[in-house]
Amino acid sequence: MNWIEKDRELIWHPFTPQKESPEPIFIESGKGSWLFDEKGNKYLDAISSWWVNLHGHSHPYIAEKLYQQALVLEHIIFAGFTHQPAIALADRLIPLLPGDFSRIFYSDNGSTSTEVALKMALQYWWNKGTTESEDSPTPRRTILAFNNSYHGDTFGAMSVSDRSVFTRPFHDLLFDVCFIDTPTSGNGGELDNLLEKEGQKIAAFIYEPLVQGAGGIKLMDPRLLNGVLEKVKARGIICIADEVMTGFGRTGRLFASDYLKQKPDIICLSKGLTGGVMPLGITACTKKIYEAYLSDDRKKTFFHGHSFTANPLACTAAIASLELLLEPAAREGIERICKLNVVFEEKLKEKYESRNVIKNTRVSGTILAFEINTGEDVYLNEISRIVTEKALEKGVYLRPLGNTVYFMPPYCITENEYGFLTKVTEAILDELFP
Ligand SMILES: *Cc1c(COP(=O)(O)O)cnc(C)c1O
Repeated sequence: MNWIEKDRELIWHPFTPQKESPEPIFIESGKGSWLFDEKGNKYLDAISSWWVNLHGHSHPYIAEKLYQQALVLEHIIFAGFTHQPAIALADRLIPLLPGDFSRIFYSDNGSTSTEVALKMALQYWWNKGTTESEDSPTPRRTILAFNNSYHGDTFGAMSVSDRSVFTRPFHDLLFDVCFIDTPTSGNGGELDNLLEKEGQKIAAFIYEPLVQGAGGIKLMDPRLLNGVLEKVKARGIICIADEVMTGFGRTGRLFASDYLKQKPDIICLSKGLTGGVMPLGITACTKKIYEAYLSDDRKKTFFHGHSFTANPLACTAAIASLELLLEPAAREGIERICKLNVVFEEKLKEKYESRNVIKNTRVSGTILAFEINTGEDVYLNEISRIVTEKALEKGVYLRPLGNTVYFMPPYCITENEYGFLTKVTEAILDELFP
């Protein structure tokens, strides 16, 4: 069978223009930081397969646990039933979470984890508003979010994300959201005014702590973000940390919120949650949120769920991944990448920023990013595709966001492999800007 031909005939790939897109690469297997195609080429997975992989591909420990679980219980309905992997995962995870969390709500992916968080927060106020009239005569209905944010592709998640080319066909159907700029040392007044005028109407604030991922790996100053959270919390607004990307060590610590004194009321997790092995989403909340749902009134039930809520295999992969993450090897891997990133950041600045061919080189833990100066150059405006092609030719998988090139490797990447990644990156820049 010609698999690629069949693919072209039958499959619709995500985020992929359907006309004249390059042929997909047929990956046969993955091991550690490497992907192997059917032609015998191998590629270093420098972006952890869309930011999900933590410990390398086809990890034998996770595979073994999955196999054992599949022989015992593969799936059951999660309303009225429960099972050990879901309970064990919640029990292990809650003490590690950044804040005082008390409940885990399961779903399937990052978008559903933020969708659940938004509904959970809005219904919190609805549930309270129908009994407590004193502080909230009409339930709070507005969501506050950052400009340039990304929280997923379902409708609620799209609504609270930046309006962009990705959401354009739906703009008239997305609900209104109050957007503010990410904090800089000069823009605190904007937020003060908004909170003064609208504070009582705002139900929740959703934010990607420290790093805006899909918005272009944009970093924010933890102290300034902490200042925003302080002001927002003072108004009783529910804080939702979307750690779908930043969770599980990406920024150096276990969670990005670990760098912040102000902790969220709700946290969203996915991507690295299962080590990148199975789809799973988590929305965790504090006791305060949960208690608004403790009611004799059935209308106050959280009527939300998915067929595959808390899938036992996904929960098993998450437990196994968490066990690996807490071992010294993973910690050392994270620290190794953090150090190598700082060294390479310096080199990029000296060698390329000084020549103005790249700008804004930055590092947050295991994530490194820079922007290629494309100017008006028509060729260079195709930069994302060009970099991806050049990198693949040289044995690395990179997928820039527009002109933003970034590394987000799995924690098992060795110093040698990282060295290979930097050599390839430099070779690409040297070819583009001789
Ligand atoms: C990827 C991402 C999502 C969406 O997750 P999916 O699993 O792709 O639906 C949401 N929030 C953030 C911060 C993300 O990086």
